Amino acid sequence: MKIYSGTGIGTKKTSGVLRFYKSDGQSAYKNNFTTCENELKRLELAIKEVKKALEKMHKRAKSHIGDEEAKIFEIHLMLLEDEDLMETAHLEISQGMCAENAVLEASDKYCKMLKALNDEYLSERAKDIKDIASQLLNVLSGKDVSESIHTSPYILVAEDLTPSQTVMLDKDMILGFVTFFGTPSSHTAILARAMGIPALVGVGDIDMEHDGEFCLLDSEKGELIVNPTDNEIELFKEREKEENRIAKEHESYLRSLINKPAISKNGHRVLIYANIGSEKEAEGALLNGAEGIGLLRSEMMYLSLDRYPTEDELYYAYKEAVTEMKGRRVIIRTLDIGADKQIPYFNIQKEENPALGYRGVRICLDRIDVFKTQLRAILRASAFGKASIMLPMIVSENEIVKCRELLEECKNELFEENYAFDSKIELGIMIETPASAVMSDVLAKHVSFFSVGTNDLTQYTLAVDRQNPKVSHIGEENREPILRLIGYASEQIHKNGGWIGICGELGADLTLTQRFVDMKIDELSVSSPYLLGVRKRVGECE
Ligand code: PEP
Ligand code: MG
Repeated sequence: MKIYSGTGIGTKKTSGVLRFYKSDGQSAYKNNFTTCENELKRLELAIKEVKKALEKMHKRAKSHIGDEEAKIFEIHLMLLEDEDLMETAHLEISQGMCAENAVLEASDKYCKMLKALNDEYLSERAKDIKDIASQLLNVLSGKDVSESIHTSPYILVAEDLTPSQTVMLDKDMILGFVTFFGTPSSHTAILARAMGIPALVGVGDIDMEHDGEFCLLDSEKGELIVNPTDNEIELFKEREKEENRIAKEHESYLRSLINKPAISKNGHRVLIYANIGSEKEAEGALLNGAEGIGLLRSEMMYLSLDRYPTEDELYYAYKEAVTEMKGRRVIIRTLDIGADKQIPYFNIQKEENPALGYRGVRICLDRIDVFKTQLRAILRASAFGKASIMLPMIVSENEIVKCRELLEECKNELFEENYAFDSKIELGIMIETPASAVMSDVLAKHVSFFSVGTNDLTQYTLAVDRQNPKVSHIGEENREPILRLIGYASEQIHKNGGWIGICGELGADLTLTQRFVDMKIDELSVSSPYLLGVRKRVGECE
């Protein structure tokens, strides 16, 4: 038995087999091809590779485990040859998608279709489709296919996960996360919260020889026990059972709040919005009672590609989110890359201090072609509901003025081209820098809303690298400067007729909700699993 400690994310427990995520593989299938023909070729080669691996696994399972257990691989092979599925993937490629996105899109459509049939057996097949898709994606992204053959869920161990690795994970197969590095505001932790799963970050080195071994993960205690004794397992399971029972009871109470507005005892109404990374998460947000989307991290789509997305691709994604939310506000944050979110095809030069460098709106104002493509896509999607635009990393009035000019340019172009769009689309900014909080009275004259990104505001106010577990305690122990900046901004923004929300991780910190209500914060945007808890907490505030 070996025990590792780290910072727990959430309070849940889980147990299962550890799987190490290896991200340095290079494959013949990963390249910079961009033409349709080449993308089809990549897909074809990836299918062949996965087929070979499945045949091998089938043979092995048959001789080592049994006929019944080997059947799953027969099903996967059949699915890999399914004409409808592959035809859809081919169609997506012929319409300009890269092989990775075509696989994602085709599997998504197929799963939705199977689920709509309301048949338990066919719904189960949706999981198999996802498994196949993840194997294809692994091959396409350069990993050894054998790594991806996990037929049962596992606990993922990684040194750390970059945002682009994070978006490529098969989230249905992950029971929990453990990372060597990372802090509560790193992207791995944000993902764990969004998925509502137990996680441990900043654990330090974990011996690779634990790959495949059974363990207990307790995020409340911040503990990972590898190869536990029978006694440990029994105690853990009992505690897990009891906590699940209490959580279930609580959940049914929380669900009863779903359609009730969040109003504090003294009558302050707070909008409860969701943070999402892709249009696909809008459905889950609605199911958890989101009154809108407070942050769509639009860079996630760019991170999942190996080329620039087209205006149409972006438009279809935003349209899906806006349509799904049925008239509720959907705040699309414009591209926020740079710092830890690096995208190879942007060819950003290596920087000494990337978090203080070429990032967010600074890139957009330099790469006007890329920015305008995104603004046009958002505007076109705004014809289908209530889309809003939010600019990240703002430090000055001048940046907003320039962005607004480009927005007006896009509106004029779309008008000339006969596209429908919301000509009064709201423009807002993030408060992620002390400068934007301090200047909020001035900035409020240019935009209608603000949303506080407490992850970066903490990083830039306290000079605490959000990726570095060695200094993350400084952020946790010094909330007051951040809260004072938010309080000041809220006062100034309200005086100037605007509204203010919080979409950083502190928005879900229930110990701070009373402070936020006191500051008259108008909206809290949190990961979907936290929506109901925050809604309840606001109702308890004075
Ligand atoms: C933040 O900085 O708090 C935020 C919400 O943005 P991100 O975490 O994507 O940097
Ligand atoms: Mg940020």
